[in-house]
Amino acid sequence: MSPTDAGPPRLIVIGLDGADWQIIDPLLEQGALPNLQRLIDGGCRGEMVSTFPPHTPCAWSTIFTGVNPGKHGVFTFHTLVPGTYTWQLTRSSDRRARALWEIANAAGLTVGAVNIPMTWPAEQVDGYMISGMIGAPAVTPSAFWPRALAEDVRRLAPDLSMEVVARRGGHYAIDEMQRTMEQRLALMRELLTTRPTDIFLAVITYTDAVQHHWLADESLRAEGADEVLRATYARADRLLGEIMEFAGDDTDILILSDHGSGPVNLYVNLPRLLADLGLAEPVSEVSYFLTRVRRRLGRMLRRQGGDPQSIIGPITRDLRWERSRVYSMITHVSLRLNLQGREPRGIISADGADEALAEIAAALRAVRTPKAPWARLDVRTRDELFAGPWAHLMPDLCAMTTEGGQTLTLPPRPYLRAQPAFLTPREAIAIDQDLVRGTHRLEGIVLGAGPSFNAGAEVAGASLQDITPTLLQVLGLPVPAYMDGRPLAAMLRGAAVADVTEEASADRAEVNADSYSEDEAALVEKRLRDLGYM
Ligand SMILES: [Zn+2]
Repeated sequence: MSPTDAGPPRLIVIGLDGADWQIIDPLLEQGALPNLQRLIDGGCRGEMVSTFPPHTPCAWSTIFTGVNPGKHGVFTFHTLVPGTYTWQLTRSSDRRARALWEIANAAGLTVGAVNIPMTWPAEQVDGYMISGMIGAPAVTPSAFWPRALAEDVRRLAPDLSMEVVARRGGHYAIDEMQRTMEQRLALMRELLTTRPTDIFLAVITYTDAVQHHWLADESLRAEGADEVLRATYARADRLLGEIMEFAGDDTDILILSDHGSGPVNLYVNLPRLLADLGLAEPVSEVSYFLTRVRRRLGRMLRRQGGDPQSIIGPITRDLRWERSRVYSMITHVSLRLNLQGREPRGIISADGADEALAEIAAALRAVRTPKAPWARLDVRTRDELFAGPWAHLMPDLCAMTTEGGQTLTLPPRPYLRAQPAFLTPREAIAIDQDLVRGTHRLEGIVLGAGPSFNAGAEVAGASLQDITPTLLQVLGLPVPAYMDGRPLAAMLRGAAVADVTEEASADRAEVNADSYSEDEAALVEKRLRDLGYM
């Protein structure tokens, strides 16, 4: 990379995954985040509501497309293979709607994009892209555009790791995580200053990774947890300082998170809950064991044969299908009806689907547990959550506990089959020290500073799908009619109303992208397990 005299970008967007004012405000009061404080003092801040449920993959995809998941097609780290009970790791080509970088490129603006979740393989942007590192298996050309950027990055950061926070010998490797974070921030700084683009977009993943493992309920808080959180946010703050130094008077800066974070207040043993409600019936212990052995053998055989397929079915699918009305899409309350004609062994007829959905939603809403008398499930159906040509890939029903807008369901591990449907944090951690202790809340952050933003304004009622329309307005570009979000007028200086184009469809051209090999998929899945997502 050669330094150049070209100026700073017009727009810089820094994502802090999982950042939450409830974590940030106390740190601001301690004076631990001086650069963020300067941005707040000169800009406008507010809360932003995430997607329901607030999963990182659908949240970032919504942020950068301006549409709901029914139009962009990304729900979580895995995407359903229609007509099966199988999921594949989500690739960038699974996002069906145009992203901000595609729209900006079409308008003649160059974009640098670093570590945006769900962008592996790297897309062929005018500018450059480094794939989101949770989904990028390794530092190989597929994670970079242009592909040759991989070589430059290897020279710049020879030890760059795509890991987020890995376990070594049963413990989180905190020093290793902090070294990797330093490297990534240095890389972002280097790219920003030596590869000029009109727009620079980057996401810092660590703010989320640390909350999962160190943001616990008071009684479960590990020693030194506060320090891990503080050090991580302080590192992100240092990068913000460097970015502000590099930014010019004409540069707009937007800081945002995809969701907030809070301690888990109740664990849900989802397979058990569904069984208790008579909604799904798990297979017997014996056939559960045999299925696992068969799957493992299948994986080994495929690997020896060099079959590059990456077919994964890690979710709670060990069910007696002929007696299961719903099944879980992921390890959160995200359910699909076992529907005839859509699912391979469906039992609910298309005619009865609406009635079944209403009945199941009512059963979930009525659930109570003496372990957490406050707990209610906030249940929403597909029609309330998703609209668009890809809504058929989404769950039929999602739920979260209402307190704090969060729920953590337990990964479907064999030893949990005997446990009750709900576990308090203390009970859950006593069974498995490895369970994550912090999880996603709906309320994330947004903060804008620079010539386009309205200094001192309080932003209220923002949602993720408003971000791309807002950024298009900042760039002076029209907002396509198909977008679900609208520019956040309170954030923006002046009363300018964005032009609207007549484009009715969000769909991008079909992209022919690489797939994960068996080994790559295994690597990414281990990473997701270490993060507590599987
Ligand atoms: Zn996230």
